[in-house]
Order: sequence, then C-alpha cells, then structure tokens
Amino acid sequence: MVSRSWKEVYVKVGKQKFIFMEDLYAIGNSNASSEFSLGIEYGGAGTPAELASLSLKGKGLVLRETEPEELRKAAAAAREQGARAIFVLKGETKEAFKEAVEYNAYYLKRGYRGLSNPRRPETVVFYISPALAKTIFGKEVPDILKAPAGSLKGKSIALQATMTEKIEFSSENVLGFLEGTDKKDEVLVITAHYDHIGKRGEEINNGADDDGSGTVSVLEIAQAFAQAKAAGKGPRRSILFMTVAGEELGLYGSQYYADFDPVFPLQNTVANLNIDMVGRIGGDYIEINEPNYVYLIGSDKLSTELHQLSEAANRETVGLKLDYKYNDENDPNRFYYRSDHYNFAKNDIPIIFYFNGTHPDYHQPTDTVEKIHFPKLEKIARLVFYTAWEVSNRENRIRVDKADK
Ligand SMILES: [Zn+2]
Repeated sequence: MVSRSWKEVYVKVGKQKFIFMEDLYAIGNSNASSEFSLGIEYGGAGTPAELASLSLKGKGLVLRETEPEELRKAAAAAREQGARAIFVLKGETKEAFKEAVEYNAYYLKRGYRGLSNPRRPETVVFYISPALAKTIFGKEVPDILKAPAGSLKGKSIALQATMTEKIEFSSENVLGFLEGTDKKDEVLVITAHYDHIGKRGEEINNGADDDGSGTVSVLEIAQAFAQAKAAGKGPRRSILFMTVAGEELGLYGSQYYADFDPVFPLQNTVANLNIDMVGRIGGDYIEINEPNYVYLIGSDKLSTELHQLSEAANRETVGLKLDYKYNDENDPNRFYYRSDHYNFAKNDIPIIFYFNGTHPDYHQPTDTVEKIHFPKLEKIARLVFYTAWEVSNRENRIRVDKADK
C-alpha cells in the first residue's frame, strides 16, 4: 500500500485563485508535478452518450454529481478519451459546499491511501464550489445543471494538484485454507473484512457490527467445516476462509486478492459468500424490531442455480426472511458495489452478500459489541454455512448462466 497527502492544490481562473478546502477539494491519487493549463468542457452526468459528443483530449471535464459508482465509471471513461482532470459540481450553495468540506475533512487531511500498484494510477476527482463553477462558466450552478453536455463554453483554468512522496506500508489479508476431497481444485471463498474506520479524534470506532460480526461468522463457519473434515466428512471442494483488510478505504484487500495475487486461480473459484454486517437489526426492520431476516444481495446476478440453492438452504434450515430490497439494480444505495464480493463478481464469479442493513450506529463509535444481536448473527452464520455446504459438496460446479451487465 502507499500513503500520500496533498502538498499544493489550487485552481486559477485568470488572476483569481481558488484554494484547497475553500473552493475545491480533491479525492484520489494525483500524479501531477506542477501547475498546468486546461480548457474546460461540461459533460452533464458523463454518460457514454454525453461523453461521445465531446472531444476531451487534454481537457478538464466538469460533471454534475452522481452516485459514486456512476461517477467512477464516467471519470474512467473520460480519462480514456484523454481528459486530463475531472471536476464535479459540489452543492448549489456556499454553505452546502462548506458542509461537504467539513464532512470530508478527515480524509482530505489524510490524503490518499491505496494499493501501491493500482490499475488506474491517476484517480483524483476535484470537487468544486458554486463560486468556482460560476467563475468558470459565468452561470449559477442550477443553470449549469440544466445545460446539455457540450453546450457550455468554460474559461480555461490553471490547475495545481501535487502530492507528497509515496510512503509505503503494508497490510495483510488473513487466509485459512481447508482442502477439499475429490474436487479440491475448485475453491469456494468465504469473506468478511476485519478492518474498520479507525479513530476520529479521540473516539474509537469499534465496528462490532461492521464488520466484527462478519469476521466472527467466518471463524465460526471455518471451525464447523474443520470439525466436519476431522470427522471424515469434509467438503468435496476446497474452501478459502479469508478475512480482508482495507475494505473501508476502498475494498483494497479483496481487490489485491482478485487483481494482483489470487492465491487460488480465479477460474477455479466457484463462488464467494461475503458477510458484512449481520449482527444488528437494521434497514426497514428497526421500526418493527424484527430480527428474523437478512438482506441478500447479488445471489441471482450471475447464477440462477446459486440463487435457488441459497433459497433452498434457508428453507430447509434456519428459515430467515430473505429480503431482496437492496438487490434491485435501481436501489440508490448500490450496495452490490460496496463490499468485497464485488471484486469477485466483476470476474464473473457468482456471489452472495449477507447484510442486515444500516442503523444509527453505522460508522459511529457507538457500534459496540453489547448491541450485537447474537441469536440473529448465529442464524445468519448458519445460513452461510449450509449454503457453503451445498456449494462445496454438490456434484456439479454451480453454473454461471447470466451476464452481470
Ligand atoms: Zn463493512
């Protein structure tokens, strides 16, 4: 991993200078070494159709704010078309922008942390204030937002975005491997992340639910399989129990495994069951105080068989209510992209993500162990176990019969 912080960040429009944390902030990794000039284009939401209408070579592209995954895709596509810098309109008022700066202050001061050999070396996105947007386009943000992509002529700017030298550090995923019997070359991966968001000021974010609950589930499931194996009834396929680091920073542990060092070949990886937050009552169930459910995400995205097998395992054993609300592609939370299973799914490996939904203690120092609903956690861990049992023991490898897009 590498860590870098911001050294100097500003935008100049003519003689006017806009400074870091006041009129712009930057998130990601920048490779710039000195100030450079840019023509500016407006690209709307940065959809493929919008980007196709623009010539972006060497330009700065201004986008309106969209969901993180949508924005990530738009930025990557724009860079591929030659865009030199990506800007996002942040807020419609001075106050809204200030609030966003304060909300992100912790990360902005810390700078970038990420894999030392990322596939996309430059990832920085600049978030700009309404005042800076107005200086560039001569229009208020609401009017900019109404304009079609390519219809606005922006003033040229000078951009400075330098970072300090890289500091290298390392982190570890923790892998436990249980070898299968007659189908041992095929591997099922069961994951949870063991990192959390650390301290803010003097307060410790404990992360009991996120993701202590998933981490202990992985350990319990590993123990159960190990006992089965010791009794001569081990699974036919191999199982990799993996707790990963760096999830909260950007799914880095699972990305490292999938992109750089898959210890077991991805083409032999039959499925990933990922457990992230299963120890609390969350989402729609807080109001009715109902523990007997779990949100399942992704089970039907790549393999009908995995979905059916998962439902049958639940029906025949723990009988939880399986809630697919967040599996809807139009759900604005887009949880499918937000935990470690995604790094397997993007390689066409079928996944199931087990999740209890968020709650008021989510990413707060108050996510503590005495609030964990252990009977609920145990039931979900059992469901993952029975699902894993079926995936690892059935005659055929579960079939991939759907495309992810
Ligand atoms: Zn989590």
